[in-house]
Amino acid sequence: MSPPSDRLLKGIGVSPGIAMGPTVTVRWALPEVPHRVVPRTQVEKEIRRLRAALKDVRKQLNELRARAEDRAGVDEARIFDAQLLMLEDKDFIGGIEELIRENHLTAEKAFEFKTLEVRDLWTAAGSPLLKERLADLTGVAIRVIQHLMHKRGASDVWESLSEPSILVARELSPGLTVQLDRDQIIGLISEEGTKTSHAAILAHSIGIPAIFGVRGAVARIRPGTSAILDGTTGKVLLDPTPDEIEDAKRTDSSRREWEVRLEEVVPQPSVTLDGVHVALRSNLDLPDELEQAQAHRAEGVGLLRTEFLITGHSELPDEETQTTYFRRIGEAFAGFPVVVRTYDLGGDKFPAPFRGSAEPNPFLGWRAIRVCLDEPEMFRTQIRAVLRAATSANLQLMIPLVTRLDEVERTREMMKEEAVRLAQAGIPAAQSVPLGVMVETPAAAVLADRLVEVSDFLSVGTNDLTQYTLVVDRGNARLADRFTPHDPSVLRLLKVVAEAARAANKPASVCGEMASEPLSAFLLLGLGYETLSVAPPALPFIKWLIRQVTTAQARAAADAALAARSAELALDILRFALAEIVDLTLLDADARLPAGRRSGSLKT
Ligand code: PEP
Ligand code: MG
Repeated sequence: MSPPSDRLLKGIGVSPGIAMGPTVTVRWALPEVPHRVVPRTQVEKEIRRLRAALKDVRKQLNELRARAEDRAGVDEARIFDAQLLMLEDKDFIGGIEELIRENHLTAEKAFEFKTLEVRDLWTAAGSPLLKERLADLTGVAIRVIQHLMHKRGASDVWESLSEPSILVARELSPGLTVQLDRDQIIGLISEEGTKTSHAAILAHSIGIPAIFGVRGAVARIRPGTSAILDGTTGKVLLDPTPDEIEDAKRTDSSRREWEVRLEEVVPQPSVTLDGVHVALRSNLDLPDELEQAQAHRAEGVGLLRTEFLITGHSELPDEETQTTYFRRIGEAFAGFPVVVRTYDLGGDKFPAPFRGSAEPNPFLGWRAIRVCLDEPEMFRTQIRAVLRAATSANLQLMIPLVTRLDEVERTREMMKEEAVRLAQAGIPAAQSVPLGVMVETPAAAVLADRLVEVSDFLSVGTNDLTQYTLVVDRGNARLADRFTPHDPSVLRLLKVVAEAARAANKPASVCGEMASEPLSAFLLLGLGYETLSVAPPALPFIKWLIRQVTTAQARAAADAALAARSAELALDILRFALAEIVDLTLLDADARLPAGRRSGSLKT
């Protein structure tokens, strides 16, 4: 048996949990289409065949859409709309019919030709918007061509499985993911994708453990290989020994017991051992998450992302729709604040109604607050909706990707103007709401003392702050191990922001993913943050941790981490500090202390 290191593959854990079983490989690619022409007399028959196939695939997609809605929610289901629209696109389908009529191609060959032509065109344009649509184009083409060639689809793979298996693919489309049956497919491994890809979001909602960004997975994992997949740590172990299987089973059952114990902490207050209250708020991306955030007793919403209100729509939501949504969320957390983050469009977020132009560097381009200020009608509609909903809810407004003071000042000006307009029109609305700045660029962190003067609160977006400080694309699977929010450079900025807010006697919080990780939450507490906004599933865990520690312990650990030479050493320092307080393996399934020590005692 080869050593474990040779049998270990690493990726990004995008959906937690352990799966054990044989692997099955799915190739999600256009099938080989033979070049064949038909006699002139058969041209109309090919057109009829094409139209019948389009009709059948539309039906399939509608069924998938309904299934997605059932299993993962209304918003996730909208991802099929883009594919359905493509099948109705007059230019696209008209172009295929033209190829059949003029070149006497078979329907499948004409479809392939047109798909490749569009694919080249979109790839050459280099726009992220089109790049996102490429996956939809390929998805539709595979479906139609397979149908025309009477081929079995990728989904047939697991219908013939003799035992529950782990699916391995180069790339998982949302369409494929949503069809998965947890009884047949118990885990997912994909070469492409990160935590924010649609397929990852779906895998998480459906509850299938998954690891994305596993380089070379298809070539390295032969179909039928026995594997243990740990979606919590992002590791795949091939050909496990009986001891390794037993080990994984033990980890799995202790994690489950742990989850049950965590439920007990839900009704308890979020206070440290020395009595400091840490406000634990929830991040909300999709309306469907509201229920879990409430069940986990979040103290409000620290980041209400609004871009996802647009996903799958052909137009921007109007003022009424937004007012109703903000009011609904605000009223669900009566007595607690709900921070509405204004549209963060651009970068990697290009929902259909947002027509951003192609840019060579979209993350350094026309994004977030820049778009809002340049598109005042869109921005003012959102501001009005917040002011109106604020009559019955404790709402706050927060602007993303700030780099300059005047972005805050102009937003405040617009808020004032809209309040006056609403009052003049006799529409009930708040006169203003607290206005906060998302600190997610090095510029904003360095200018925190000035930004806090012109705003009411600061909230650090560590996802972007890490990306821009370390110059590491946050969505690039290849750079995932360089994306280290614990880097001493990022920690210094976090400290600067906390101190600026404290000096101005205004609140500062953290709403990036970092706050949802226990080691980091401890660190952030030590850096001076007493408000954290975390993903709904992470709320009980973070609260449990807060209740185990003192602020003095957290401060000492944060000071030591700040002085570390690297992100790895900063993490080791946090592990050492926490190992004295809790069982480290609970916090960090992968935790090994540097000197081979494993953990301290469990004091609960
Ligand atoms: C962040 O950048 O940390 C953040 C919370 O915003 P988003 O992830 O939506 O960019
Ligand atoms: Mg951000």
